[in-house]
Amino acid sequence: MTEFVIIGGGVYGAGVAWWLAEQGAEVRLLEAKQIGNGASAGPGRRGTRANGRDWRELPLVKRAHEMWPSLHERLGVEQFFERLGHMLLIERPRDLQMAEAMCLLQNQHGTETHLLSQGEVREREPEVCDDVIAALFCPLDGVSDHTAVTDAFAAAARRAGAVISENTPVESIETEGGRASAVITAGGERIEVGKSLFVLSNAGVQGLLAERIALPIWSRAFQVMLTEPLEHMPIRHLIGHMSRTLAIKEEAGNRVMISGGYPGKWDPVTETGTAIESSIDANLADAVAVYASLKEARVEAADADHLESVAVDDIPVIDIVPGTDNAIYAAAWSGHGWAIAPSITQMLADWGRDGKRPELLAPFSARRFSA
Ligand SMILES: Cc1cc2nc3c(=O)[nH]c(=O)nc-3n(C[C@H](O)[C@H](O)[C@H](O)COP(=O)(O)OP(=O)(O)OC[C@H]3O[C@@H](n4cnc5c(N)ncnc54)[C@H](O)[C@@H]3O)c2cc1C
Repeated sequence: MTEFVIIGGGVYGAGVAWWLAEQGAEVRLLEAKQIGNGASAGPGRRGTRANGRDWRELPLVKRAHEMWPSLHERLGVEQFFERLGHMLLIERPRDLQMAEAMCLLQNQHGTETHLLSQGEVREREPEVCDDVIAALFCPLDGVSDHTAVTDAFAAAARRAGAVISENTPVESIETEGGRASAVITAGGERIEVGKSLFVLSNAGVQGLLAERIALPIWSRAFQVMLTEPLEHMPIRHLIGHMSRTLAIKEEAGNRVMISGGYPGKWDPVTETGTAIESSIDANLADAVAVYASLKEARVEAADADHLESVAVDDIPVIDIVPGTDNAIYAAAWSGHGWAIAPSITQMLADWGRDGKRPELLAPFSARRFSA
């Protein structure tokens, strides 16, 4: 019997394993493939952004903002976080009133946000096109190296005594007397759950829970691309856009990553994703419309090999597995689960240990979908 069993070795599974193990708990993490192969893997870095988030996530990102700068010290690795500030660019006059409201709300939630005029945007981002009339600016936002973070969580969890089994897919969950009692792996191993089970397999959550709950969530292969090294770096911040499907960030070697949510193509049989030419063209066109000098950029690599689950209302689903009082699942990060991982993994660990749902996670219950 193992006190805490965790299914899934992305940033969420590895993070919860660490928060529990560092407090002396007995932890077994089961990962179908290797640590950090799903949405927590892939080229470049991930944005740690409060700007433009759903209001229910703002308290979580505020906590995460406090944690990101020193998390590497607790995990015993090199710095993996960079505070760049996030600029949410605005081109359409009709978006200005909403931007004012978002600015108010984000500040009310303790996330410093400024609505910059066209001139103020130009001072900070001199190469942005003339069509950009304003921007919402969050100075505390940044980027972090997702591969380094996920690996660091897993390594620190192992050092603290957690047992991490890779190439160990879980096939089913057994319940008995209103609790999750064991999980069965594809290899036939039965692992008994002493206290709590965490189902943190992201795109794999709905499949594992199919007999117990039908969630309005699905999976998407978000496409990202990296340019060849640029002679000149046009951007200075982490860039997003109010009305275009666009995110731009600086990457190593004077490259930029261009993303934002265009789809790639996922093959469920081989479990691999491939980039789509039309997504590359559309994403690049959006980038060039905002930073003209990116017209010269050549795409070095396009990647769609990392599946993410998304919810119909674009915020995660975090709840107790129906029919149990000790199995917690979390999924549907909807393309923005990275930034809030430090705070949510800590809260999930507390929940599994104490049996008490953290108040800040209550808005993400599946009950919100009930008729
Ligand atoms: C291309 C891309 C860009 C992104 N950009 C950002 C960003 O800029 N900012 C941001 O905040 N967020 C971003 N995100 C979202 C963020 O990366 C994810 O929300 C986060 O990494 C999810 O972590 P996870 O641990 O839940 O899932 P994953 O990392 O997908 O981990 C789940 C793991 O579960 C394993 N698994 C599945 N089924 C089973 C099973 N039956 N048994 C055992 N193991 C199983 C998988 O192999 C996988 O390793 C992005 C996501 C993608 C894909």
